[in-house]
Amino acid sequence: MSREEGSGERPAGPGPDFVRARAASDLASGKVRAVRTRFPPEPNGHLHVGHAKSICLNFGLAAELGGACNLRFDDTNPSKEEVEYVESIRRDVRWLGFDWGDREFYASDRFERLYEDAVRLVRKGAAYVDSLSADEIRAYRGTLTEPGRESPHRGRGVEENLDLFARMRAGEFPDGAHVLRARIDMASPNINLRDPTLYRILRSHHHRTGDAWCIYPMYDYAHPLCDAYEGITHSICTLEFEDHRPLYDWVIGQLGPWEPRPEQIEFARLNLTYTVMSKRKLLQLVRDGHVSGWDDPRMPTIGGLRRRGCPPAAIRDFCSRIGVSKKDALIDASLLEFSVREELNRTAPRAMAVIRPLKLVVESFPEGAVEEMEAVNNPEDPSAGTRRVPFTRELWIEQDDFREDPPKKFFRLTPGAEVRLRYAYIVKCTGVTKDPATGEILEVRCTHDPETRSGSPQAARKVKGTIHWVSAAHAVGAEVRLYDRLFRSERPEESGSFLDDLNPLSLEVVPDAKLEPSLAGAKPGDSFQFERLGYFCVDPDSTDARPVFDRTVGLRDTWAKVEQAQKG
Ligand code: ATP
Ligand code: MG
Repeated sequence: MSREEGSGERPAGPGPDFVRARAASDLASGKVRAVRTRFPPEPNGHLHVGHAKSICLNFGLAAELGGACNLRFDDTNPSKEEVEYVESIRRDVRWLGFDWGDREFYASDRFERLYEDAVRLVRKGAAYVDSLSADEIRAYRGTLTEPGRESPHRGRGVEENLDLFARMRAGEFPDGAHVLRARIDMASPNINLRDPTLYRILRSHHHRTGDAWCIYPMYDYAHPLCDAYEGITHSICTLEFEDHRPLYDWVIGQLGPWEPRPEQIEFARLNLTYTVMSKRKLLQLVRDGHVSGWDDPRMPTIGGLRRRGCPPAAIRDFCSRIGVSKKDALIDASLLEFSVREELNRTAPRAMAVIRPLKLVVESFPEGAVEEMEAVNNPEDPSAGTRRVPFTRELWIEQDDFREDPPKKFFRLTPGAEVRLRYAYIVKCTGVTKDPATGEILEVRCTHDPETRSGSPQAARKVKGTIHWVSAAHAVGAEVRLYDRLFRSERPEESGSFLDDLNPLSLEVVPDAKLEPSLAGAKPGDSFQFERLGYFCVDPDSTDARPVFDRTVGLRDTWAKVEQAQKG
């Protein structure tokens, strides 16, 4: 797998990708009258950022070409499906910004028609009931280098097949006793064409059809027909279905005619560094308690991204940046973070918060006095206005913003040095108070220059550093959850057990951060830029009594510079 962004038939960037180009040309040539796509999740798991790529492609392409996209629940596999997933998928697609109108379909709503079409196949001699066991069918199928062998039941006559298939449906046989198979070609070099199974007997309760059915259609049979029934023109799926396309075309070709006639187009799935995307592995992470749930902010699920504070617009932007191609690629997680920063930089209000508090006493500021400082809500958006932040004699600053013995180029607070307190005054450090027993710094002391109040001419005086602060008397205590990547290596799926690669430091809980008082009323889902720290989002666990914030993403560029400066 190469590691590049959207390489392939048509590079990402200006101009449509190959799927869009093909749909546009089919429309222009009159091959299709309107473009109709579908997003076909199987309701057996929660959606992840890979699904977002498919959602953006299917819904985006249809919207761009004046067509429509259906939401289709591909619920042909009853034992693994749950209503909970249907609800979660609907919510996630809507949250991503897409609307399927009244075009919500379920493969299970077509069970009767699918059955009737299977009967038509039997009548034409294109399908037969096989009574080999699953193991025998597998053994008869052959290998990539060896042709398959025909089942002894392949020659069953139409009447016998019709009778057996009807009795399969009627529940006369136990699970696994018979299957319905397509009669195609046991010698085909494409194993998918070696008389694939179309129906199996399975006594399993279905979340929509209950116990009405004890035979269920296979994906490769149901999917093309659902496309055809819904009038899908471009059936877009991921590359692993490329070898199934001849079967797709066979099913479509045997039944019909269809107007429009659906065609399958494959594109490369999204793979992202430092995470896993397989449903099985995501489920394992949840079940084994490596994360708090499906919407743990470290999960690549849509629910996780939402909880972490990634805006839907950022996910759409990311999907358009990575493009659509026919070549598998591993996308750098930092590209998603880039899109998130870009979006939040435009939209997130700024606030001051101190994550690891250290007391700063402004000796020259009168005890009990409160000055309201004017702070800009979003320098990128003047319409966001300003707010007032209380300034008092006792403040919280970051422990990291003070050094008694500073390294070179440390431009924050150190004994004898000046620093600007954001939106307030220039202060000069006069010393520290230490615990006489342990030597631990209890508080830092300073004096302020009253002439340098923010906005005054003297405030323009040059000092090297600016730090943020929160008035101790007004501070709102909060829990802050700092997230890092869930896995240590770029490709956790490739290491022996992906669980061995879990990053033990992927979550750090800071129990007693100090927030400026304006953050007191913030509601779950609200995003902020904590100045100099990054973007944070109010977690659903948050209460008025105990606010909880998740770090969405750091201001990496700032930190990179800071670290550079400290090293240099
Ligand atoms: P399963 O193995 O259970 O089928 P799946 O990830 O394919 O898992 P589906 O619910 O079948 O899940 O997926 C719905 C749609 O999303 C399919 O069209 C699928 O191709 C697409 N999709 C799934 N994963 C990705 C991915 N990583 N990148 C792009 N598209 C994806
Ligand atoms: Mg699938």
